[in-house]
Amino acid sequence: MGQACAVSHPQSTLITGIGELVTNDGEPGAFTALTDAALVIADGTVAWTGPASRAPAADTVVDAKGRAVLPGFADSHAHLIFAGERSAEFAARMAGRPYRAGGILVTVEATRAAPDVVLRANLRRLAAEMLRQGTTTFECKSGYGLTVPDEARGLALAAEVTPEVTYLGAHVVPPEFAADPAGYVDLVCGPMLDACAPSARWVDVFCEDGAFGAAEAAAVLAAGRAAGLLARVHANQLGPGPGVRVAAEAGAASADHCTFLTDADVDALTSTPVVATLLPGAEFGTRQPFPDARRLLDAGATVALATDCNPGSSFTSSMPFCIALAVREMGMTTEEAVWAATAGGARALRRTDIGHLGAGARADLILLDAPSHAYLAYRPGVPQVAAVWRAGRLVAGSPP
Ligand SMILES: [Zn+2]
Repeated sequence: MGQACAVSHPQSTLITGIGELVTNDGEPGAFTALTDAALVIADGTVAWTGPASRAPAADTVVDAKGRAVLPGFADSHAHLIFAGERSAEFAARMAGRPYRAGGILVTVEATRAAPDVVLRANLRRLAAEMLRQGTTTFECKSGYGLTVPDEARGLALAAEVTPEVTYLGAHVVPPEFAADPAGYVDLVCGPMLDACAPSARWVDVFCEDGAFGAAEAAAVLAAGRAAGLLARVHANQLGPGPGVRVAAEAGAASADHCTFLTDADVDALTSTPVVATLLPGAEFGTRQPFPDARRLLDAGATVALATDCNPGSSFTSSMPFCIALAVREMGMTTEEAVWAATAGGARALRRTDIGHLGAGARADLILLDAPSHAYLAYRPGVPQVAAVWRAGRLVAGSPP
């Protein structure tokens, strides 16, 4: 009584003087940018975009001084629940030893032995590292626990930091089931799924020689879907195989890796809504041939780029690094690569609120210390993300 209630007015922020504003809100599926632009953030969303000369007033004004503004990166494929590291394996592989899926078991052992506090600290360190590099949305998989309690606790930890949580009990058959892989698939589709589904949005399976075959993968995805999860698949990474076909038949949001594709696989990716998510960090980290993005784009497939951040095959959290690889090694234009790392990742996560900066989008955006998106590939390895806003809040770096 006697004191007026504090009414909170949403603060608006005008970012003006933007040399290049990547909006991705023009023709569906295509990179779109404005020059000499401005953008208004209000209530956590993009309220207005247009020419700087016509920008409306706002509570706070940021002058981008000719720099580029992009949607925050959407990293739709990452394995961040783990303990330990495998730099010695990487060094040995670079010295000539081929990569085998079995290396995962080294991380499984370390992860099972780690207390929650260690897993949580590692996860949060990597999430912060991603944010500083402009990733405002990331997906996070389990898959290094491979027991009911270890998978369930990993997903509960992931759910603390992202809504895009993926159950990957079917990452590899753990050693205690080496003589009974069918028994392990039953566990993944039964008690483990029951324990994990409450924390997860997605179900994933590593469909590859040395991991899970077509029938096993289809069973895992069907069980996940029956528990309310959406499907995604590790497909065609180490050689030709049924992964893309399994993904298409399961109505998966994304087939990830897509390094070894037949013409039928490419047809499946163009005739269904399955996004082809390319993970060039994995080919870099295993010295394998890069996926042929040009072939997929020319055929009309939707392509996303993601890091595959994991301690074995691709220990990078950097979307700019993946963009640079995609442009230099995979035949993508700078526009296509930036679209794939933003709007493409959003498609792979079936999200319409991120990956673009049209009016109404969540205000997830990055200010580059560069005049155009092309600098991400033109100046590889150079930190160029100057500031990051997530849901309209400045969460990393600082404006000029
Ligand atoms: Zn992966």
